[in-house]
Amino acid sequence: MATAAKTQADERYVYRFGGGVSDGGSGDKNLLGGKGANLAEMASIGLPVPPGFTISTAMCTRYYEEGETFPESVRGEVAAGIVHIEGITGKKFGDASDPLLVSVRSGARVSMPGMMDTVLNLGLNDETVEGLASASGDERFAWDSYRRFIQMYSDVVLGLDHGAFEEALEVAKEDKGFTLDTELSAADLKALVAEFKSLVEEQQGAPFPQDVHDQLWGAVGAVFGSWQSDRAKVYRRLNDIPGSWGTAVNVQAMVFGNMGDTSATGVAFTRDPSTGHNAYYGEFLINAQGEDVVAGIRTPQYLTKAAREDAGAKPLSMEEALPEAYTELAAVFDRLERHYRDMQDIEFTVQQGKLWMLQTRSGKRTAKAALKIAVDMAAEGLITRDEAILRVDPQALDQLLHPTLDPSAARDVLTKGLPASPGAASGAAVFDADTAEKWAADGKAVILLRTETSPEDIHGMHAAKGILTARGGMTSHAAVVARGMGRPCVSGAGALSIDNKAKTARVGGREVKEGDLLTIDGATGEVMAGEVATIQPELAGDFGTLMVWADEVRRLKVRANAETPLDCRTARDFGAEGVGLCRTEHMFFEADRITAVRQMILAEDEAGRRAALEKLLPEQRSDFQAIFEVMAGLPVTVRLLDPPLHEFLPHEEAEFAEVATAAGVDVDTLKRRAGELHEFNPMLGHRGCRLGVTYPEIYEVQARAIFEAALDVAEKSGEAPIPEIMIPLVATKRELELMKAVVDRTAKAVFDERGKTVEYLVGTMIELPRAALRAGEIAEAGEFFSFGTNDLTQTTLGVSRDDAGRFLGSYVEQGIYAKDPFVSIDVEGVGELIRLAAERGRATRPDIKLGICGEHGGDPASIAFCESVGLDYVSASPYRVPIARLAAAQAALKARG
Ligand code: PEP
Ligand code: MG
Repeated sequence: MATAAKTQADERYVYRFGGGVSDGGSGDKNLLGGKGANLAEMASIGLPVPPGFTISTAMCTRYYEEGETFPESVRGEVAAGIVHIEGITGKKFGDASDPLLVSVRSGARVSMPGMMDTVLNLGLNDETVEGLASASGDERFAWDSYRRFIQMYSDVVLGLDHGAFEEALEVAKEDKGFTLDTELSAADLKALVAEFKSLVEEQQGAPFPQDVHDQLWGAVGAVFGSWQSDRAKVYRRLNDIPGSWGTAVNVQAMVFGNMGDTSATGVAFTRDPSTGHNAYYGEFLINAQGEDVVAGIRTPQYLTKAAREDAGAKPLSMEEALPEAYTELAAVFDRLERHYRDMQDIEFTVQQGKLWMLQTRSGKRTAKAALKIAVDMAAEGLITRDEAILRVDPQALDQLLHPTLDPSAARDVLTKGLPASPGAASGAAVFDADTAEKWAADGKAVILLRTETSPEDIHGMHAAKGILTARGGMTSHAAVVARGMGRPCVSGAGALSIDNKAKTARVGGREVKEGDLLTIDGATGEVMAGEVATIQPELAGDFGTLMVWADEVRRLKVRANAETPLDCRTARDFGAEGVGLCRTEHMFFEADRITAVRQMILAEDEAGRRAALEKLLPEQRSDFQAIFEVMAGLPVTVRLLDPPLHEFLPHEEAEFAEVATAAGVDVDTLKRRAGELHEFNPMLGHRGCRLGVTYPEIYEVQARAIFEAALDVAEKSGEAPIPEIMIPLVATKRELELMKAVVDRTAKAVFDERGKTVEYLVGTMIELPRAALRAGEIAEAGEFFSFGTNDLTQTTLGVSRDDAGRFLGSYVEQGIYAKDPFVSIDVEGVGELIRLAAERGRATRPDIKLGICGEHGGDPASIAFCESVGLDYVSASPYRVPIARLAAAQAALKARG
């Protein structure tokens, strides 16, 4: 204990940057957060970065471990950090004649836009404000900075009601008949500061802190505190960011974008984050501070002349208004892209003509842009093809695989905003995040309408199909977050006037009420009344190129879970190399079969069951024919009947009479049989191969339908499918032996009748822990294993997959499982069983074919696990096939190291 305390006390928590010093670099993201690490890196390559220091994430962890207090040692380190800034700037913190002001910003390992707190202009008080006024020669600027500081500090650090401050500002403007903050004079601002200070005193019962060191520690504590804010927690949950990472705090000399018309602040991307187009892309505001741009309160101006002209906008671009600073900035963009070999998202400030870099990081981008940038950069020789493959998040492909608006469909366009995040969405208009979440939970598609979004809206944005805002630019909170989530978003639709109280929006004399259907097109910015038809995505171009590269490096095959010809076609178009799971029960539910299925279930003996099955045979055969035709030449894994039979019988009183008549029995018989089949725990009941063991004729007829269909397709097209007949829920070798005998016997009978054969395999699913443990002997009877990780997860964890939703959320939140184990394989538990079964199966039968067909087959992290075990294939739902192809390629590349 004593040793641990000593190590902690000795640990270093503060890392400086600027003025030729860089204690860290871009490799230190875990310790310094993304922002801190990149500030240090930029400073080290000689870019103009205001000097500062980073308090590490390790301090954040310790801060929470020690009851939200700071150790003495860190106070000394921070004091030394301030001295470092003072030495470079020549200003002193708290100096009444020429004060040093600092910003205090959060910065986690990965960026969490807008989720955590920031304080600017720290170091101002009643004395230093005068010093700032005289040193800058701009009294108005000094008092504006002070009022901004009090406002921000009161909100972020003191937790006071920010509405009261905004209202006071509004009233001050109204009194003078002004509309813009910039119209307020130094005297107006001075009066406003006095009012703000009395508001503070009223609300917290103590004056606004005048000691600059108290201010600093208050702000540092607030930034660490914001790591545990509700919105940060929600964001972490949605983005799989562990709470244990903590945030760093960056304290940096302030530079001012609000020192007149040669000052500005902006955000930029080195390429277009929406389309990936290779052109600088960004927004800036003259005479403003950084938060004004990202907060989306003023609609910003374009960075380049070309972009301004394209948009037909009037206010001058930065290229035109501040040509020298722009040229320097463009050179920095190129330098940063070459240095980081990736598209960068940059924050900068121009203070009286001088450019300062405040942040750089790899820019968030849409899936479309990610593809284009990766493919382009590989072509430009900036990165290799393998790197290009690793650059695209497989999950993000989802955005591209979904429909866009049909260009030929009629559109009733209400207005147009900025195309902030691509994709099209229709849904009912809602005006607040809670309603969005509630309606979405009821299965309704919603479009969230906000004047501007704030981090508090994040749950509603996630629940909505699309987001529409009246204010804010392409880098506003709504735009950044929507792009990250893959939600279509139209931002800055300025003609829209939203009344939150009345839950209505007015645009061009028309009204949109809560619940009215709206469509937004995130690619064009159009907002339409009603629902507009959609079309399927284009899969050629950059997508096709990257997929070809991915296919060249991946080892795992990718199949699809599909049971209809349409799903099989979609899957093949998406590049599936066969079917990994055809669940035959889905065919039983079809309207024209269900009666025969029920007759089979209601039959009292084998003869009765066979008679009903005879009726099903031609239907099943034609189903298999259709699938085999689409999949000709490829393996198709067909699973024999799995669910308990009572699932096919009616449950509602109202249905009994009709079903009884159709099945040709009386209602009492039907009810009695349904009662007999009732199970307390159907998932562990009479299902899977247990059906085949008790009623082998069911599996026999299914096998016959498969073989006959395979022979038919082989004859017709000359290309035979390769059926892999799969027995579900096996626990013992004997079960599989018995079922394989039924299948082999049937195959022989059909082949004898037809005088022809097709190649086929018989294997089993591994869905029960016993099957995994006894895989060595089960492999004696089966030619392949397919891991049914849905059932294997529920049987290994003892968690019902149908009931897990009630409590798994809390489990993940409390770190019991890192991720939902039904979405991403529980590598330690379920994974160990898979590894063991694969080893034992191979020991018996070295060429045993191994695959996975649970939902995990489409999850990138689980796919990486499958690669590590050396499975032969993964099988995923058709729309996830491209995701699986890319994830498999990434897993192969990472495995090679
Ligand atoms: C499984 O259990 O993983 C599986 C694929 O089968 P089902 O989801 O149909 O039970
Ligand atoms: Mg299963």
